[in-house]
Amino acid sequence: ERLSATLRDADAVARLGGDEFAVILQKIEELEDAEVVAAKLIQALRAPVMARGHQLIVECSIGMAVYPDHGQESETLLRHADLAMYQAKKLEGGQCCLYSPTLNEQAVERMTLEQDLRRALANGELVVHFQPQISLADGDISGAEALVRWKHPRLGLLGSDRFVPLAEETGLIWELGQQVMDLALRQVARWHEAGLLLPRIAVNVSPSQLRSDLADSVAYLLKKHALPAQCLELEITESGLTADGPQVRELLLRLREIGVNLSVDDFGVGYSSLALLRHLPLTTLKIDRSFVTELPHNQQDLAIVDAMVKLSRSLHLRVVAEGVEAEAQIGVLRLLGCDDMQGYHLCRPLDTDACTAWLGNCRRRFGPRPPPENR
Ligand code: C2E
Ligand code: MG
Ligand code: MG
Repeated sequence: ERLSATLRDADAVARLGGDEFAVILQKIEELEDAEVVAAKLIQALRAPVMARGHQLIVECSIGMAVYPDHGQESETLLRHADLAMYQAKKLEGGQCCLYSPTLNEQAVERMTLEQDLRRALANGELVVHFQPQISLADGDISGAEALVRWKHPRLGLLGSDRFVPLAEETGLIWELGQQVMDLALRQVARWHEAGLLLPRIAVNVSPSQLRSDLADSVAYLLKKHALPAQCLELEITESGLTADGPQVRELLLRLREIGVNLSVDDFGVGYSSLALLRHLPLTTLKIDRSFVTELPHNQQDLAIVDAMVKLSRSLHLRVVAEGVEAEAQIGVLRLLGCDDMQGYHLCRPLDTDACTAWLGNCRRRFGPRPPPENR
């Protein structure tokens, strides 16, 4: 009713199904005219709806395609309007987007990459790189973080930002996560057999992997590779931990029972950080890179990192600084009492062979500086 009331008699309104409607505007002279109508439609729907005494606010997203520029046939026009609508949805509420050919390319590229990723999971194209973590107290290696990479047959080695979000959106992240954990644990077991010391391996876990059967699969993989649970740490971002209170808490308690370490990744950039620390059985806090970058000069960051380290101390959490890129940061992190550090200045993520070599001769490479009187 509201859509019809906003339009002229010559325009057509139809319900395509569910909550999707289509409008055909006749006799549009200029594109701006269509944009004005779209803005009116968004406004018309935004007025509250009363339902059983509740006031409901409805928002809509609009995608537009123009004949004949964006298609000759109705199917093409509708498909293109649909692509533009998904673009509008991404902008969050009450927006209108016009179709452009690049949207089509993006959609095709995404679909191809999704098919490729399914194949990659079946063919074992994923590999794991390892980034060492170093103890600030004695310069020993305290662990490593496993970071997924994709040996794409056509595009070369892809970083996780190119496909982890896609895996999350398409539900492939569970399988991806299983493969990463399997590969990482297998490699750690090999290093242990070769007498190379790696006390702990950290594996990233996406929010959607926090299902109740995660604990079973973790226990299974530890057993498969004959590794003690203490050498595994799961890194979960704050957004994953806030998602679903009681169920996530129960899962984390089961993982703790098994003996696995649990770390909050990118700490400080999400929401409700402190409530998480109080409610969840965590063992480790990873200070987000953004707080470390400008150390030691930025006084605010210095105060924040100082507080995070003290907080971790009192809550008996191990604290790791991410993104250490300069020597000057190491000194201040040591002074503040941070436990471990990780970053390009110490070591970039390494492939298996490079990491094997690194483990072989890493001991005490980053030891504490001698006290001033000995310098
Ligand atoms: P993260 O868990 O916070 O991982 C740290 C990221 O920071 C890595 O990027 C690492 O290469 C990068 N990094 C390390 N040191 C430095 C530094 O000194 N400076 C800068 N600028 N960057 C540094 P990467 O490998 O591209 O991973 C990005 C994100 O992708 C990770 O962030 C993690 O959230 C996700 N990810 C990676 N592997 C996996 C995985 O196996 N599963 C899941 N679910 N997510 C993963
Ligand atoms: Mg991580
Ligand atoms: Mg991180």
